[in-house]
Formats: sequence, C-alpha cells, structure tokens
Amino acid sequence: MAARAAGPLVDGFMRHVTYLRVSLTDRCDFRCSYCMSEHMTFLPRQELLTLEELDRLCSAFVLRGVRKLRLTGGEPLVRRNVMSLFRNLSRHLDSGKLEELTLTTNGSRLALFADELADCGVRRVNVSLDTLDADKFRALTRRGDLEKVLEGIAAARAAGIQVKINAVALKGINEDELGSLMEWAHGEGHDLCLIEVMPLGDVEEERLDQYLPLSQVRDRLAQRYTLSPSSHVTGGPARYMDVAETGGRLGFITPLTHNFCESCNRVRVTCTGTLYLCLGQEDAVDLRAPLRASADDTLLHQALDEGMRIKPKGHDFVINRLGQAPAVKRHMSTTGG
Ligand code: SAM
Ligand code: SF4
Repeated sequence: MAARAAGPLVDGFMRHVTYLRVSLTDRCDFRCSYCMSEHMTFLPRQELLTLEELDRLCSAFVLRGVRKLRLTGGEPLVRRNVMSLFRNLSRHLDSGKLEELTLTTNGSRLALFADELADCGVRRVNVSLDTLDADKFRALTRRGDLEKVLEGIAAARAAGIQVKINAVALKGINEDELGSLMEWAHGEGHDLCLIEVMPLGDVEEERLDQYLPLSQVRDRLAQRYTLSPSSHVTGGPARYMDVAETGGRLGFITPLTHNFCESCNRVRVTCTGTLYLCLGQEDAVDLRAPLRASADDTLLHQALDEGMRIKPKGHDFVINRLGQAPAVKRHMSTTGG
C-alpha cells in the first residue's frame, strides 16, 4: 500500500472518520413495514462481498483509523457463516486498533449466537424492537416472533453483552406504547433509543402516515416522566435524556427535525461494497471493483481517499408532501441502519 494512503480518514470539512457501519446482506427474515416492501427483490448472491472481502475491507478502514465497527444489514445474523467474520475481525480488538466491534440486529437469531459474539469481544448490541405486543409485532414485521427476540435479548444479557433497544416511533402504531416500552427497557437495564422514521426507499405505506415527530413524543413523555438532559454521549446522532422515575436513559435520533451533521464521524458500506458518505445523500464510491482488481490494497486505499474528498457536508431529508418520492431511493436495509 502506498505510504501516502496510510494516514487517517479526514474529509474536506476536517471531520475524522472513525466509525464504520457495514451491511453484510440486504436480506432479512423480517419485512418491517417502514423498512421494506412486502415483496422485496434481493440482490443475487454473487453481487455481495464475500466474507473474506468484507474482512479485507473492514481491516483497511481499521488501518486508516476506524475505531468502531458496526455490522448491520438487512439482518446481519442471517448471513451464512457470519461468525467467522466476527471471529476474524476480533483480531483488531485484540491488537487494540479497534475499540469496539458491534452489531445491529432484529434479535431473531441472537439467542443462537450470543455466547459466540461475546467470545469474539462484542460487548454491546443494538436490538430493534418497536413493540412489546406480540400480535402487533407480527403485523409490523410481517412475520416476526416477539418471543424469539425477547429470548435473544435475554441470551445477550446472560452472555454479558449490554443491550440497547432501538424503536422507530410510528404514528398510530406504537405511539401510545412508547412510555411502557421505555419502562420495560429501563426495568431490564437497557437504554432505549427512539428513531424518527426516515424517507429511505419505497415501501407500501405513505411516509407521512408513519411519520411521528419525536418532539411530539418527547412532549408527551415529559407530561408523565421527568426528563433531563443526560451527559451521556456516544459519538452517534442520539441525544440522551435521563428519566428520573425509571433511572434509565432515553435517546432521541431525529434526523428530520434536528441536524447532527457537523460532528459526523461515520461512513457506511453496503453489502455490495458501495461506500456511502452520508445516509441521506447519494454520494458514493465503489469499493468492490478495487477490492476485486488486485490482492494488494493500494487501489482500495485510493478509493477511500476519494470518499473523503466527496463526503458531503450534510443531509437533506424532507417529508412534507403526500406521495412525494423518497428523498433517498435505497432502503435502509441496503445502506445498513
Ligand atoms: N435488521 C437489523 C435491525 O432491524 O436492527 C439491522 C438493520 S435495520 C435496517 C437497522 C435499523 O434501521 C433498525 O433499528 C430499523 O428499525 C431502522 N430502520 C429501518 N428503516 C428505517 C426507516 N425508514 N426510518 C428509520 N429507521 C429505519
Ligand atoms: Fe429487517 Fe431490520 Fe429492516 Fe426490519 S428493520 S425489515 S428487521 S432489516
């Protein structure tokens, strides 16, 4: 690799990229109504990076100063032989180059893998869970079994992995339940993070029907609970509040009503090796071609440099009109949430 390329990843706005999210697959065993359409066409397998290519790619980022690596999807735990990737990547934890290896999962297969994940050095996991009502859960995910997810969460905790619950706030679906979801999460010792629905990809429902501003959720929760700004910061876009009554933390991710781009330290890679520089913009660099062009990483590092050159200043999400095309055409499951 050229010596010039070995430096840290710094973009044109002097932001250091230290956090990488990688989607391992666009496939999923659920079809959450806000994320995917009922009848998704998934990518042909040969388009996906192999596990070996994913390891090479992640390792190149680690060499360039990425300290935190989150594997996501689709559902990362449906990727065949996924544990071999975790196992290989754990060498960067052992060497101290990587601070954190983690994943975002729907939890359906977490019970199967919790012990092995812990053994690979995974200390924290984000589990997406939007409702504790089993029927609503099945309807919202179009096939998920709540019981399995709860078993997965319990298994992770038993393995010593800290669990954060992520819930998308959805108008008319879970909006009345967010207080009780929070009480449950905090009672179990988990942080809860609420996410505003983002206009990513076409789904059957209208975005405006699903969109529930978190400012509204917060006002409503503040009538029942004492919320005060928390000093907890994760380096991510979540803003946390301490909840006096539960003793827990409640995070808010509000990409639509609040801008968090100035401190953006992250980039994303899709399962086909496209590097997206911003969740809400199309600016991208292909990493698969340089990966496949040679066994040497010179071209790959040049592509990372190009990514830094074009990383945009910020995103541009809008949901303001019924029937408006999504601001970004790719689904969250493609880019990796
Ligand atoms: N399958 C895993 C899961 O559900 O956690 C990982 C991938 S999923 C795409 C990552 C996160 O994105 C989940 O928390 C999910 O709720 C969220 N998500 C999916 N589509 C979204 C959208 N349109 N707006 C906001 N969040 C979304
Ligand atoms: Fe699958 Fe996660 Fe998307 Fe739900 S949010 S369909 S679990 S990728």
